[in-house]
Amino acid sequence: MAENFELQPLTDEQVEQQRIMLIEKRDRTLAAVKAAEQNQDPDELRVADEMDLSSVGYDQAFEFRLRDRDATLLKKIDKAIRRIEAGEYNFCEECDAVIGANRLLARPEANLCIDCKEKQEHVEKMYEKRRQRMTSFEM
Ligand SMILES: [Zn+2]
Repeated sequence: MAENFELQPLTDEQVEQQRIMLIEKRDRTLAAVKAAEQNQDPDELRVADEMDLSSVGYDQAFEFRLRDRDATLLKKIDKAIRRIEAGEYNFCEECDAVIGANRLLARPEANLCIDCKEKQEHVEKMYEKRRQRMTSFEM
């Protein structure tokens, strides 16, 4: 009979270490976002958001992508911290399965078990393909 492989949750101590690490990461990311904002006129940013990024300079486009990424990361970090405080950190948001210590240590912002994450990525890819098809119809 095959051994039943079960994922291990993080210990309370490990969860606390993750919490401290996530708070530090959030502070670092916030500081980086604030520093970037100080160099940028907010009106300019709004206009740029509506523009095709290919029409702005490469450096600017790169910076917008970075800001986008930082904003997404911040949301994920905040959510992870809230999940820790609610005592839900070890469990998948979708199916309540144990996410697994290895996965959480490697990806501290993870909120889904690997199965649910793969399903979600599959759905995202499908939407992306559909979006690309629709865009090519418009042309
Ligand atoms: Zn799951």
